[in-house]
Amino acid sequence: MDWILENGIIEDMDNEPERSPDSWERLRADCAGCMSCELGKTRTNLVFGVGNERADVMFIGEGPGEQEDLQGEPFVGPAGKLLDIMMEIIGLDRTKVYIANIVKCRPPRNRDPLPDEQAACIGWLHRQIALVDPKIIVFLGRIAAMAFIKPDFRITREHGQWFDVNGRKAMAIYHPSALLRDPGKRPETFVDLKTLQREINALHD
Ligand code: SF4
Repeated sequence: MDWILENGIIEDMDNEPERSPDSWERLRADCAGCMSCELGKTRTNLVFGVGNERADVMFIGEGPGEQEDLQGEPFVGPAGKLLDIMMEIIGLDRTKVYIANIVKCRPPRNRDPLPDEQAACIGWLHRQIALVDPKIIVFLGRIAAMAFIKPDFRITREHGQWFDVNGRKAMAIYHPSALLRDPGKRPETFVDLKTLQREINALHD
Protein backbone atom coordinates (compact mmCIF):
# COMPACT_ATOMS: atom_id res chain seq x y z
CA MET A 1 0.00 0.00 0.00
CA ASP A 2 1.37 3.42 -0.94
CA TRP A 3 0.80 6.56 1.10
CA ILE A 4 1.40 10.08 -0.10
CA LEU A 5 3.04 11.91 2.76
CA GLU A 6 2.68 15.64 3.50
CA ASN A 7 5.91 16.38 1.70
CA GLY A 8 4.66 14.62 -1.43
CA ILE A 9 6.91 11.59 -1.06
CA ILE A 10 5.22 8.30 -1.86
CA GLU A 11 6.07 5.69 0.75
CA ASP A 12 5.48 1.97 0.44
CA MET A 13 3.93 1.11 3.82
CA ASP A 14 4.08 -2.66 3.23
CA ASN A 15 7.84 -2.62 3.50
CA GLU A 16 10.10 -1.21 6.17
CA PRO A 17 11.91 1.78 4.74
CA GLU A 18 15.42 0.68 3.93
CA ARG A 19 17.97 2.28 6.21
CA SER A 20 21.50 2.50 5.05
CA PRO A 21 24.06 1.38 7.63
CA ASP A 22 25.16 3.92 10.20
CA SER A 23 28.50 5.64 9.76
CA TRP A 24 30.80 7.78 11.88
CA GLU A 25 30.20 10.71 9.52
CA ARG A 26 26.44 10.45 9.93
CA LEU A 27 26.65 9.97 13.68
CA ARG A 28 28.94 12.99 14.13
CA ALA A 29 26.67 15.11 11.98
CA ASP A 30 23.54 13.97 13.84
CA CYS A 31 25.12 14.51 17.26
CA ALA A 32 26.74 17.89 16.53
CA GLY A 33 24.77 20.69 18.12
CA CYS A 34 22.49 18.32 20.05
CA MET A 35 20.25 20.17 22.51
CA SER A 36 18.14 17.21 23.62
CA CYS A 37 18.66 17.92 27.31
CA GLU A 38 19.43 20.84 29.61
CA LEU A 39 23.17 20.07 29.64
CA GLY A 40 23.41 21.40 26.11
CA LYS A 41 22.68 24.93 27.38
CA THR A 42 25.69 25.15 29.68
CA ARG A 43 28.38 23.27 27.76
CA THR A 44 31.42 24.88 26.16
CA ASN A 45 31.99 21.90 23.87
CA LEU A 46 30.11 18.70 23.19
CA VAL A 47 32.52 15.88 24.04
CA PHE A 48 31.84 13.23 21.43
CA GLY A 49 34.47 10.55 22.02
CA VAL A 50 37.97 9.68 20.92
CA GLY A 51 40.21 6.81 19.97
CA ASN A 52 40.37 3.81 17.69
CA GLU A 53 37.04 3.47 15.92
CA ARG A 54 37.53 -0.29 15.49
CA ALA A 55 38.99 -1.01 18.93
CA ASP A 56 38.60 -4.32 20.73
CA VAL A 57 38.24 -2.42 24.00
CA MET A 58 35.98 0.52 24.78
CA PHE A 59 36.12 2.61 27.96
CA ILE A 60 32.92 4.34 29.02
CA GLY A 61 32.77 7.01 31.72
CA GLU A 62 29.87 9.06 33.01
CA GLY A 63 30.38 12.55 31.62
CA PRO A 64 32.85 15.33 30.82
CA GLY A 65 34.49 17.39 33.55
CA GLU A 66 35.79 20.94 33.37
CA GLN A 67 38.87 20.30 31.23
CA GLU A 68 36.97 17.94 28.95
CA ASP A 69 34.28 20.59 28.45
CA LEU A 70 36.92 23.20 27.60
CA GLN A 71 38.92 20.97 25.26
CA GLY A 72 36.10 18.89 23.73
CA GLU A 73 37.84 15.60 24.43
CA PRO A 74 37.08 12.95 27.06
CA PHE A 75 39.45 12.26 29.95
CA VAL A 76 41.99 15.04 29.41
CA GLY A 77 42.03 16.46 32.96
CA PRO A 78 43.79 14.97 35.98
CA ALA A 79 41.55 11.89 35.87
CA GLY A 80 42.39 11.45 32.22
CA LYS A 81 46.10 11.53 32.96
CA LEU A 82 45.58 8.77 35.52
CA LEU A 83 43.53 6.81 32.98
CA ASP A 84 46.47 7.05 30.57
CA ILE A 85 48.74 5.58 33.26
CA MET A 86 46.22 2.82 34.00
CA MET A 87 46.10 1.92 30.32
CA GLU A 88 49.87 2.00 30.03
CA ILE A 89 50.17 -0.54 32.85
CA ILE A 90 48.44 -3.10 30.66
CA GLY A 91 49.92 -2.10 27.31
CA LEU A 92 47.06 0.09 26.09
CA ASP A 93 46.97 3.67 24.91
CA ARG A 94 44.50 5.98 23.19
CA THR A 95 45.33 4.58 19.75
CA LYS A 96 44.18 1.12 20.85
CA VAL A 97 40.90 1.88 22.64
CA TYR A 98 37.82 4.02 22.12
CA ILE A 99 36.76 6.35 24.96
CA ALA A 100 33.32 7.90 25.42
CA ASN A 101 30.87 8.95 28.14
CA ILE A 102 27.24 8.33 29.03
CA VAL A 103 26.48 12.05 28.58
CA LYS A 104 28.37 14.22 26.10
CA CYS A 105 27.96 17.58 27.82
CA ARG A 106 29.32 18.56 31.22
CA PRO A 107 26.93 18.38 34.15
CA PRO A 108 27.17 21.60 36.20
CA ARG A 109 29.72 21.44 39.04
CA ASN A 110 30.54 17.86 37.97
CA ARG A 111 27.40 16.44 39.54
CA ASP A 112 26.19 13.00 38.44
CA PRO A 113 24.19 13.14 35.20
CA LEU A 114 20.47 12.93 35.99
CA PRO A 115 18.40 9.97 34.75
CA ASP A 116 16.57 12.08 32.15
CA GLU A 117 19.88 13.50 30.89
CA GLN A 118 21.30 9.99 30.57
CA ALA A 119 18.16 8.82 28.79
CA ALA A 120 18.33 11.74 26.36
CA CYS A 121 21.97 11.12 25.52
CA ILE A 122 22.53 7.38 25.61
CA GLY A 123 21.32 6.79 22.06
CA TRP A 124 24.47 8.50 20.75
CA LEU A 125 26.58 6.12 22.81
CA HIS A 126 24.63 3.08 21.61
CA ARG A 127 25.41 4.11 18.05
CA GLN A 128 29.09 4.56 18.93
CA ILE A 129 29.20 1.09 20.49
CA ALA A 130 27.55 -0.42 17.41
CA LEU A 131 30.10 1.25 15.14
CA VAL A 132 33.16 0.37 17.23
CA ASP A 133 31.79 -3.13 17.89
CA PRO A 134 34.19 -3.76 20.79
CA LYS A 135 34.69 -7.21 22.26
CA ILE A 136 35.21 -5.80 25.74
CA ILE A 137 33.66 -2.78 27.45
CA VAL A 138 35.15 -1.28 30.60
CA PHE A 139 32.85 1.00 32.57
CA LEU A 140 34.63 3.68 34.55
CA GLY A 141 32.72 4.14 37.78
CA ARG A 142 29.34 3.40 39.26
CA ILE A 143 27.15 5.61 37.06
CA ALA A 144 28.25 4.01 33.79
CA ALA A 145 27.99 0.50 35.28
CA MET A 146 24.48 1.21 36.57
CA ALA A 147 23.39 2.39 33.13
CA PHE A 148 24.61 -0.72 31.31
CA ILE A 149 25.13 -3.65 33.70
CA LYS A 150 22.32 -3.27 36.26
CA PRO A 151 20.63 -0.38 38.09
CA ASP A 152 21.73 -1.61 41.51
CA PHE A 153 25.37 -2.13 40.56
CA ARG A 154 27.66 -1.81 43.60
CA ILE A 155 31.06 -0.62 42.48
CA THR A 156 32.70 -1.41 45.84
CA ARG A 157 31.64 -5.07 45.63
CA GLU A 158 31.37 -5.77 41.93
CA HIS A 159 34.32 -3.96 40.33
CA GLY A 160 36.59 -6.30 38.44
CA GLN A 161 33.88 -8.89 37.80
CA TRP A 162 32.83 -9.90 34.29
CA PHE A 163 29.27 -9.36 33.09
CA ASP A 164 27.54 -9.92 29.77
CA VAL A 165 26.25 -6.72 28.16
CA ASN A 166 24.46 -7.49 24.90
CA GLY A 167 26.87 -10.31 24.10
CA ARG A 168 30.00 -8.35 25.01
CA LYS A 169 32.24 -8.97 27.99
CA ALA A 170 31.93 -6.06 30.37
CA MET A 171 33.63 -5.02 33.58
CA ALA A 172 33.46 -1.96 35.78
CA ILE A 173 36.44 -0.48 37.55
CA TYR A 174 36.74 2.54 39.81
CA HIS A 175 36.55 5.86 38.00
CA PRO A 176 40.00 7.52 37.87
CA SER A 177 38.52 10.49 39.78
CA ALA A 178 37.67 8.13 42.64
CA LEU A 179 41.24 6.82 42.57
CA LEU A 180 42.54 10.39 42.79
CA ARG A 181 40.31 11.06 45.79
CA ASP A 182 41.11 7.73 47.46
CA PRO A 183 44.49 6.28 46.45
CA GLY A 184 43.76 3.38 48.81
CA LYS A 185 41.58 1.91 46.05
CA ARG A 186 44.47 1.70 43.59
CA PRO A 187 45.74 -1.80 44.54
CA GLU A 188 42.27 -3.28 43.85
CA THR A 189 42.19 -1.46 40.53
CA PHE A 190 45.61 -2.83 39.64
CA VAL A 191 44.20 -6.35 40.11
CA ASP A 192 41.18 -5.44 37.94
CA LEU A 193 43.45 -4.09 35.22
CA LYS A 194 45.45 -7.31 35.21
CA THR A 195 42.20 -9.27 34.88
CA LEU A 196 41.33 -7.06 31.92
CA GLN A 197 44.76 -7.58 30.40
CA ARG A 198 44.40 -11.37 30.54
CA GLU A 199 41.08 -11.14 28.71
CA ILE A 200 42.55 -8.85 26.04
CA ASN A 201 45.47 -11.23 25.55
CA ALA A 202 43.02 -14.14 25.23
CA LEU A 203 41.37 -12.35 22.28
CA HIS A 204 44.55 -12.84 20.29
CA ASP A 205 45.36 -16.44 21.31
S1 SF4 B 1 24.19 15.73 27.13
FE1 SF4 B 1 23.74 14.51 25.30
S2 SF4 B 1 21.51 14.71 25.02
FE2 SF4 B 1 22.16 16.37 26.39
S3 SF4 B 1 22.53 18.10 25.01
FE3 SF4 B 1 24.50 17.05 25.33
S4 SF4 B 1 24.68 15.61 23.59
FE4 SF4 B 1 22.51 16.26 23.71
